[in-house]
Amino acid sequence: MKRNVDLREISDGRLYTAEDMVRADCHDCQGCSACCHGMGTSIILDPMDIWRLYRGTGMDFSELVSRGYVELGIADGMILPHLKMREESDACRFLDPAGRCSVHGYRPGICRMFPLGRYYEGGGFRYFLQVHECRKNNRSKIKIKKWLGIPNIKEYEGYIRDWHDFLGQCEKGLTELDEQNARTLRIYVLRIFFQDPYEGEEKDFYHEFRERLRETEEKLQLGR
Ligand code: SF4
Ligand code: SF4
Repeated sequence: MKRNVDLREISDGRLYTAEDMVRADCHDCQGCSACCHGMGTSIILDPMDIWRLYRGTGMDFSELVSRGYVELGIADGMILPHLKMREESDACRFLDPAGRCSVHGYRPGICRMFPLGRYYEGGGFRYFLQVHECRKNNRSKIKIKKWLGIPNIKEYEGYIRDWHDFLGQCEKGLTELDEQNARTLRIYVLRIFFQDPYEGEEKDFYHEFRERLRETEEKLQLGR
């Protein structure tokens, strides 16, 4: 989800690559679960997040939605899934009674990054450190790719860039469609990239994603 904010107000003013050291390591959170509460609809999921959650929990997309872990919303014109907060406590549905993430090993990309964010520019992105978000003041420096804990970071970053670009093309395309065709586009993208399950290991996910992207761009005649 795009945010219109001045980077200088929310960050340390620097942009980082995955190879850089950044003061993000909050030492396993140690009893804090602040950023797993009150997140509203902001923890938006990408297709790999759904694949990861399926691999870790055994719940496919429709089960994640029907059991109330994930819900759908509109973000940048498209229908996209996000983590659902509990009504009574405003906590993420995956937060366990001890205040720990019950899906830590397969948590979504936004959770992995926190308190980092992505800044997109020139066909790619870099990371920035949100300085007002994490409650721990004594964070240590850590290499970003280690903090993310995602194998094959280059392939992952390429995937994130492609997904972001694709959503940008869709958002642009929506401005030329009437309401009925816009709805068809939103539902088509939701089905192809989220509802139809991805099988296999991580390398299979990237391959499958690229195939779906290529076919969808051809079908929708989106030029990149
Ligand atoms: S606010 Fe910081 S320390 Fe607290 S749960 Fe989030 S990342 Fe961990
Ligand atoms: S998935 Fe885990 S880390 Fe992410 S908000 Fe939920 S409980 Fe917190």
